[in-house]
Amino acid sequence: DKPSYKWQRVLLKVSGEALAGDHSQNIDPKITMAIASEVASVTRLGIEVAIVVGGGNIFRGSSWAGSSGLDRSSADYIGMLATVMNAIFLQATMESIGIPTRVQTAFRMSEVAEPYIRRRAVRHLEKGRVVIFAAGTGNPFFTTDTAAALRCAEINAEVVLKATNVDGVYDDDPRHNPNARLHDTLTYHEVTSKDLSVMDMTAITLCQENNIPVVVFNLNKPGNITKAIKGEQVGTLIGG
Ligand code: UDP
Repeated sequence: DKPSYKWQRVLLKVSGEALAGDHSQNIDPKITMAIASEVASVTRLGIEVAIVVGGGNIFRGSSWAGSSGLDRSSADYIGMLATVMNAIFLQATMESIGIPTRVQTAFRMSEVAEPYIRRRAVRHLEKGRVVIFAAGTGNPFFTTDTAAALRCAEINAEVVLKATNVDGVYDDDPRHNPNARLHDTLTYHEVTSKDLSVMDMTAITLCQENNIPVVVFNLNKPGNITKAIKGEQVGTLIGG
């Protein structure tokens, strides 16, 4: 019998910023390796893991749009392509330590990765493969947080685990206020009404409408990814 953990299938969201760490190039291989080895340990326990990667370490559409005459849609397509670079890097890292991994892109790049096919993604997960979803939702004007919420709902994953560079959601900015307190739990309503910068509004409301809890946690602390995936207390849990 498989031991039962809190979640059987999770959607891990890794932002581009988290992948970059403080490395001078865009990706820190130590971070991708840390992600790979923690994900490896939980997939061996039988927990299914899908990953959505961001691209902000390479290109963020919203901050380029407008400058040098770049329209928002073009900027966002470049941003989506950036997520594919991160996905391939992460896939190569995972496969280097023996975790079977598939990348699925939201728009076709057939020579590089599979196209996103929901049933096929689910099949991969059932076979114990990690699936990395790249190119966000495939649409400009969205974010990879929204892609995480969307893919989570589509593949019937039970939770969005948002790996960041902060310990969770605070009641004030911990960089400026040493007394800022970390929330263990929050409701969706608290997040949206207090405008806590957890995720953009589209992403958080999509989670709320589909009753998908969100865990915000720090990926830089060793063991945190494992804890989050196994459903142990880490960071801030948003739900209800
Ligand atoms: N993006 C997009 N549609 C999506 C997801 C992402 O247009 O569905 C673009 C957008 O320009 C965004 C960039 O891809 O700025 C990188 O994604 P994001 O900013 O969400 O990455 P993260 O903040 O997680 O690193």
